[in-house]
Amino acid sequence: MKTIALVAHDQKKDALIAWARTHEAQLAPHRLFATGTTGGRLKAETGLAITPLKSGPLGGDAQLGAMIAEEDLDALIFFVDPLSAMPHDVDVKSLIRLAILYDTLMAVNEATATGIVRCLAD
Ligand code: PGA
Repeated sequence: MKTIALVAHDQKKDALIAWARTHEAQLAPHRLFATGTTGGRLKAETGLAITPLKSGPLGGDAQLGAMIAEEDLDALIFFVDPLSAMPHDVDVKSLIRLAILYDTLMAVNEATATGIVRCLAD
């Protein structure tokens, strides 16, 4: 069992929910965390057991960064919106930077997310 975080920016939340439903069987065996709003929607709209953290702009991205630094997170699936400016851009950059620094499996788009869950299932 791996620990996986799921995050989606607002314009990408529908896409993440749809993706999570498609890959529910591959995600279900793992320990799943999500930022607050993403996690609330995943809980309501999928059958997955999710531990929600704070909302991203209120520290949820920072909580995930701390999990990476503590080596408590195996994979980050982050559907990033490339077309909108984020008020919490510094937190987003920090999270991605820590995932790079700690060599954490990280997907910032759907195609790579699919590759990661397939790889974890092997
Ligand atoms: P949210 O946070 O799931 O609470 O909307 C996502 C983000 O980091 O923007």
